Amino acid sequence: MTPVLYLVIPCYNEEQVLPLTSGKFKAKLDELVSAGKIAGNSRVMFVNDGSKDTTWDILTSLCEEDERYAAISLSRNRGHQNALVAGLMEAKKHADITISMDCDGQDDINAIGQMVDEYAKGNEIVYGVRNDRSTDSWFKRSSARSYYRFLKGMGVDIIPDHADYRLMSARVLDALEGYGEVNLFLRGIIPQLGFKQSVVYYSRAEREAGKTHYPLSKMIALAIDGVTSFSVRPLRIITLLGLIVAFLSFIGIIYVLVSFISGYVVDGWASTTCILCFVSGIQMISLGVIGEYIGKIYLETKQRPRYIVSEKKNIPEE
Ligand code: UDP
Ligand code: MG
Repeated sequence: MTPVLYLVIPCYNEEQVLPLTSGKFKAKLDELVSAGKIAGNSRVMFVNDGSKDTTWDILTSLCEEDERYAAISLSRNRGHQNALVAGLMEAKKHADITISMDCDGQDDINAIGQMVDEYAKGNEIVYGVRNDRSTDSWFKRSSARSYYRFLKGMGVDIIPDHADYRLMSARVLDALEGYGEVNLFLRGIIPQLGFKQSVVYYSRAEREAGKTHYPLSKMIALAIDGVTSFSVRPLRIITLLGLIVAFLSFIGIIYVLVSFISGYVVDGWASTTCILCFVSGIQMISLGVIGEYIGKIYLETKQRPRYIVSEKKNIPEE
């Protein structure tokens, strides 16, 4: 039986790029349907992540034009990861497989066919992995590299050079639904789900229009989220740091006592100030890291919904 495929495409303020890319997604879908790889009721499903421009109007008119387009709209902007989950959870009710991808044309649509082939071979998760980073700026390239190294060092296992371009079966999405955490970091969760997995390589294009929503500040926030959602290693590092400082202080105390007994005590303002600055610096950083975790606990205990779907277009009845 040919599987029903839903492409899940989050869009936030993408009025510039949607007219360029939406037709390509549909053409690809048609091609796969004609090739007999996917079922005729497959869809290109957009998720409007509370856009402030005309994105939703564009999506609405696409849905009116052609029933192969579908769309849901979130009540407000909830960020890329939540928009993805919202789309995937809706899509899994109607599809056998989903492929999540960016709407800006950066994820090569020609990899979709290969992903579906991998699924046909029995893989339930297929990661789209970039085979080169030549289209990235030097800054994005090197920051990505240090990001992966940092995450690995902190004990988070992710697939390098894989973003959120991936195929997942409805069965995998059922398992994902059980992960109710508000601090969502899909790249970290999905490899933990297990299931038979494989990889498809593609080369990442430049954004067709508009500009990225991931400036440096957001990338740093995502990196911190990635670590604190998956690993308590930073807390251990703090403990270790505490032990080292305590040990050094112990040696310092012995030194002070010996100096005192031998009558050799001088004003020592510089050394005292240095030690004070060093120790209080470490304390502040440590408190910050612990606070980061407490903040996470706070957000999780409230168990608020990750998103609210306010509108749906061309989504079949359940
Ligand atoms: N996106 C979203 N909500 C946001 C920010 C981004 O749904 O708050 C979408 C965006 O429309 C795009 C995808 O997430 O389809 C990836 O964003 P972007 O292309 O800006 O990131 P980059 O590819 O530069 O890392
Ligand atoms: Mg992009």
